[in-house]
Amino acid sequence: MSEALSSTLLEKIEAVKQRLRSTWQSYPQQVVFANSLGAEDVVLTHLIAEVVPELPMFVLDTGRLPEETLSLLEQVQQQYPSLQVQVYYPEATELEAFVRAEGINPFYRSQALRKACCQVRKLEPLKRALTGQQAWITGLRREQSVTRDAVEFSEWDASQGLQKLNPLADWSEAEVWSFIRHFQVPYNALHDRHYPSIGCAPCTRAITVGEDVRAGRWWWENPENRECGLHAASSVIPLKSN
Ligand code: SF4
Repeated sequence: MSEALSSTLLEKIEAVKQRLRSTWQSYPQQVVFANSLGAEDVVLTHLIAEVVPELPMFVLDTGRLPEETLSLLEQVQQQYPSLQVQVYYPEATELEAFVRAEGINPFYRSQALRKACCQVRKLEPLKRALTGQQAWITGLRREQSVTRDAVEFSEWDASQGLQKLNPLADWSEAEVWSFIRHFQVPYNALHDRHYPSIGCAPCTRAITVGEDVRAGRWWWENPENRECGLHAASSVIPLKSN
């Protein structure tokens, strides 16, 4: 039997639906959802399918994603056939040159090499995915980590030159999972194996009790640096009510 939703969560769900509708009205044809297929992003996928299925989304396939993430992508495409899900891949020539120069797993050797790998496999495809847009939507939440505690519903993303919309900014992890269970939303099987935050396979591990939810990402680095550059700190310029 599905889990009952609290009145607080029901209100938050309605608020997100309203944010999605007003986003599509504010940026018709020029907003896109960056779908990482994480727990927050399957919530947004479900809500976008319900209220604005015409809003496009993309997935960055770095070439190093876990098999479970690719299986989830297949599930999402089958369960929400009305959605437009574009998959972006690294630029082949650039990636081949990087691997030839640095090897297949250079990210453990230094933070500079880890960032270089993220640049080729994530940031360059992200740049292409965001070309021509005025705004992008993410599933960032304030609670996720020390690097995300100032996330706003709407903020100026200077690194991308776009407005960045984070409709789940005020959601708790428990609310995300209540939603997933209640609506039986497909999610990554790794979440059931103690992977709260999932990225590329070689850079993600399971966490243990008491660890931060992002502790399994680039665990060999300092917590303050554990971002790949997709979500550089934004300058906050709130827009409208979202
Ligand atoms: S998360 Fe790891 S494998 Fe994926 S792009 Fe970044 S450094 Fe490379």
